[in-house]
Amino acid sequence: MKFLIKTFGCQMNVNDSEIMSGLLTQAGYLWTENPEDADIVLINSCAVREKAENKMYGTIGQFLKIKKSRKLIIGVGGCSAEKEGKTVLERFDGVDFVFGTRNITDIVNLIQRAQKHKRFVDLSDKLDCVSHELPKNPTSQHHAWITIIYGCNKYCTYCIVPYTRGLEKSRPYEDIVKEVYDYAAKGYREITFLGQNVDSYGKDFSDGKPKLDLLIKKASEIKEIKRVWFLTSYPTDITDSLIDEIARSSNAARNVHLPVQAGSDSILKSMNRRYTRQQFIDLVKKIKDRIPSVTISSDVIVGFPGESEEDFQQTVDLIKECRFERVNLAEYSPRQGTIAYKYKPDNIAHEEKNRRLMYLMELQKEINREENEKYRDKLLRIIPEAKASDTALYGRTMNNKIVIFNSQDASLIGKFADIKIKRITAGPLYGEMTKNENDAGFDIQNDPTFMI
Ligand code: SF4
Repeated sequence: MKFLIKTFGCQMNVNDSEIMSGLLTQAGYLWTENPEDADIVLINSCAVREKAENKMYGTIGQFLKIKKSRKLIIGVGGCSAEKEGKTVLERFDGVDFVFGTRNITDIVNLIQRAQKHKRFVDLSDKLDCVSHELPKNPTSQHHAWITIIYGCNKYCTYCIVPYTRGLEKSRPYEDIVKEVYDYAAKGYREITFLGQNVDSYGKDFSDGKPKLDLLIKKASEIKEIKRVWFLTSYPTDITDSLIDEIARSSNAARNVHLPVQAGSDSILKSMNRRYTRQQFIDLVKKIKDRIPSVTISSDVIVGFPGESEEDFQQTVDLIKECRFERVNLAEYSPRQGTIAYKYKPDNIAHEEKNRRLMYLMELQKEINREENEKYRDKLLRIIPEAKASDTALYGRTMNNKIVIFNSQDASLIGKFADIKIKRITAGPLYGEMTKNENDAGFDIQNDPTFMI
């Protein structure tokens, strides 16, 4: 039988889909990209934004149409499924089963149950079954994503995640290390440690101490692994020892994704973010001071209930001061089940939210253009990731700058390449390759990006 998985939302969902795909392949099912060919469709949903959720409902509708003319098993999982539970079955006759965010390892059993023609919802917690031994079908052949902590304890008032993914649960340290070794043995060269709040990793162990710094140190020592990334950080949870480890390690990526969400203390409080504007700015400064070449990216929500023009201007000022490498901008949209949905009327008009969003978008472009100037005519080291077009590849530097260069040589993907930057934009940098890892005399130890 053939299966297809449609994934919405964050990288954690992508990682979950890789595991489900691996388990199904191991059980003898075959992957297909073609909806017309599939006997089983799994929809891995996201509930964080209304837009993603609506898109997911549209996708269910498309598969229900196909199901009208032939047999098809449809399972809906992920955050929306966890939030909506049996409502998904009530709303969509053709959906066979609903599963959660913590029982993806049970996917083969769930499908076998669905084949017995009984519709069901199963949101059980099987996180203890996650281990390095699970088969996976990674989307990349050189970059592996490893979820190290599930859930979140923060309860930001706009966010549905603690209700859909549950409270924080860290995977055993040794198990993660084995997974990194497994990937290294398979030829992977980059890894990203993933979590909703990755800096909390280990706090739920008996000694209560965060251990992301130890994991990064350990992974960086594995000689086949050339870059170690981590995502996403929570501002109050980054420890000095983690910052020092990144600064010390030659393999830890110099990029911290640090969502600020808003620039005014009153909105931060209303969002239940646990830091002040000044504490955030001080943290950005500390990270930039201690880690050479580091870039910091962030997330911002505009139009949170009660956000005045003055509050918004404080966000503008904070962005000007922090000079992020990238900002993911979103208009506030109320999510049923969150604290803000219950207690805070969505009182900023859509047009006003949009005006604020566009303003920040332009501001960030300007900052990017100015910041990117420092790379003009410089040599940067990247690991090419994929085709940018028929004639070009793109890749990332150690500090997450995207670089595009002319080449049709797919064998360069996953290897180091040095690129002389010739053109600057507010987005990617463009350049010409001077050398790559296959060339004689390539100096693998000294990444020229660190010279800038
Ligand atoms: S830190 Fe806040 S925004 Fe991030 S997942 Fe947790 S509750 Fe949601």
